[in-house]
Amino acid sequence: MSETRDWLTEGLPHIWLPYTQMKTSPAPLTVVSAQGVRIRLADGRGLIDGISSWWTACHGYGHPHIRAAVEAQLADLPHVMFAGLVHEPALRLASRLSALLPGDLERVFFTESGSVAVEVALKMAIQYWRNKGQPEKQRIAYFRHAYHGDTFATMALCDPDEGMHALFSGSMPDQIMAELPSDETMRRAFDLLLETHAERLAAVIIEPLVQGAGGMKMHDAATLAFISEACRRHEVLLIADEIMTGFGRSGQMFACQEAGVVPDIICLSKALTGGTLPLAATVARRHVFEAFLADDPTAALMHGPTYMANALACAAANASLDLFEREPRREQVAMIEAQLRAELGPCRELSGVADVRVKGAIGAVELTGAVDLDDLRRRFAELGVWVRPFGNVVYLMPPFVISAGDLATLTSAVHQVLGERAQRL
Ligand SMILES: *Cc1c(COP(=O)(O)O)cnc(C)c1O
Repeated sequence: MSETRDWLTEGLPHIWLPYTQMKTSPAPLTVVSAQGVRIRLADGRGLIDGISSWWTACHGYGHPHIRAAVEAQLADLPHVMFAGLVHEPALRLASRLSALLPGDLERVFFTESGSVAVEVALKMAIQYWRNKGQPEKQRIAYFRHAYHGDTFATMALCDPDEGMHALFSGSMPDQIMAELPSDETMRRAFDLLLETHAERLAAVIIEPLVQGAGGMKMHDAATLAFISEACRRHEVLLIADEIMTGFGRSGQMFACQEAGVVPDIICLSKALTGGTLPLAATVARRHVFEAFLADDPTAALMHGPTYMANALACAAANASLDLFEREPRREQVAMIEAQLRAELGPCRELSGVADVRVKGAIGAVELTGAVDLDDLRRRFAELGVWVRPFGNVVYLMPPFVISAGDLATLTSAVHQVLGERAQRL
């Protein structure tokens, strides 16, 4: 234990944490291991993870099948550059993703993070039109409440009012924000927006069915289908950012499938490796890829992260896909959905609660009034659960392997903490 204190007290003054006011926020908790749905802390406590480590750990922690795959890969080939060289785990993964994805989404470009996967999708979309002789189609439309990443191009596609990137607005490209066309009037408005901008618009980007970090907002499959149809009509590419929704989280393997939509480009990351190693994929339909085939070398896609298609990460992703085949993930998500509906629903009665939304293994409680995030987070940890609300949303996105008992502990902690808050309002 004294050893723990050494690295902790010596290391903490050198760490800069994400989205954190380092002056005022409480000290982070120290994790020593994680197994199943439990995160084990240095002080001996175990917390039930209610948010799957930022929505990645869909199989829980320490699944022996993923560990064995990564260990075997480590012995053979942890990494090799992916230009001019390829390897089995990446090619297997590419063909498996193509088979799983709808339609002819069949060309996979690997990167290492979600934001970069979106950046690559944007480059693909803009260069697609350039290669087709329409270089003026360069702008991107996105939706209110969107979140597509933290890098500069992706920040420009996050909700300008509620997003976390407003302070950089002067240094970002100016993109076009649309409202989600959820009724007839808004559908006409969306159609008009595409018509007005079509000549300069390369793509529309959307988080299908559930907008995540922008507030866990949900829309129906008909809205998504309408957006897809409108994009086709106006000759604008559709990019689906399924970094959060992909791999079963919303109920189907990919959220687009619920609406029968085949986007031109899809972005995947987060649960791709089951929460073990960083990896992302941008997958294009055949016609998008074919627009890059030419004798002109400048028609090629000019992107290539150093660690793209890392072999360890690809091995982990293949093992994660094995688990979707071998273990009952779809059934587990359906059971989690039913339980979240039943057990988070009563939060609607609490004062200070604006809305409760559930979709697949995602349950969100939207709050009204000022929210003391540090205080809520502290209370959750005291109750033995790891739940980390953001903005005005308390949400649960547990590992799919969670037991009904552990999920009940999470939902009752949410009800209790929001009940305590209601008393103070
Ligand atoms: C998390 C997320 C991203 C960004 O992924 P990073 O790996 O954090 O860069 C982009 N889009 C969506 C929908 C996300 O949930």
